[in-house]
Amino acid sequence: MNKALLPPTPKGRKYEQEARKIRSFAGLRRDDERLDPFALAPYAGLLVVDFSQIEGLSEQARNHLLGEGANDWSGGTFTRLLPNGRQLVILNPKHGLQRHQATLMEEVCHVFLGHKANKLEITKTNDQGKIVARDYHDEDEEEAYAVGAAALVPYAALHRFITMGKTTYQIAKHFGVSRPLVIYRIQISMLWPEYKKRHSAEVEEHNQKYNQAFAKSGKT
Ligand SMILES: [Zn+2]
Repeated sequence: MNKALLPPTPKGRKYEQEARKIRSFAGLRRDDERLDPFALAPYAGLLVVDFSQIEGLSEQARNHLLGEGANDWSGGTFTRLLPNGRQLVILNPKHGLQRHQATLMEEVCHVFLGHKANKLEITKTNDQGKIVARDYHDEDEEEAYAVGAAALVPYAALHRFITMGKTTYQIAKHFGVSRPLVIYRIQISMLWPEYKKRHSAEVEEHNQKYNQAFAKSGKT
């Protein structure tokens, strides 16, 4: 077996190793195979239920979570065990499958990485795919999200795809994840300059949008 490429930073390398363990547990052999968090969830003791199946929510709460508040949460895990020993995970039905992949993968990673949870974890990601609300310790949140993202989009494959000239759109489609997640992976892996060399117009456009969104949020 040839030694696969690892990210340049120590943290990146650590997360990548964890991600590889999870991928190999999932039975994946190649670094460019698509990981299915939904197939992995039962092994982490997670039961993913549809939002519509939750009983006991008031009409008002339901309307809020799916309406005005729909952007405030990506998924929730009830860490109190169900009678069958599983933990209940609910994914925001207003978010697409691609975003669900990252949200669910983060929940799977909390379990696989042995993180200690609070009673209820509510995860919120923003448009850039970054977590902006959390209920685990900060470092656990960072680790779970980063390892989950690395398991979904492995560094070696990402590096190769960029060298081949693939776009973020193509890479996202290949792995079945959102484009913001791919951009996050490229940036955190220090591959953004390499990517920019080949797709400068796209990167400019992305930076412009990002700056606009930043200005809008009232921060400077
Ligand atoms: Zn989390």
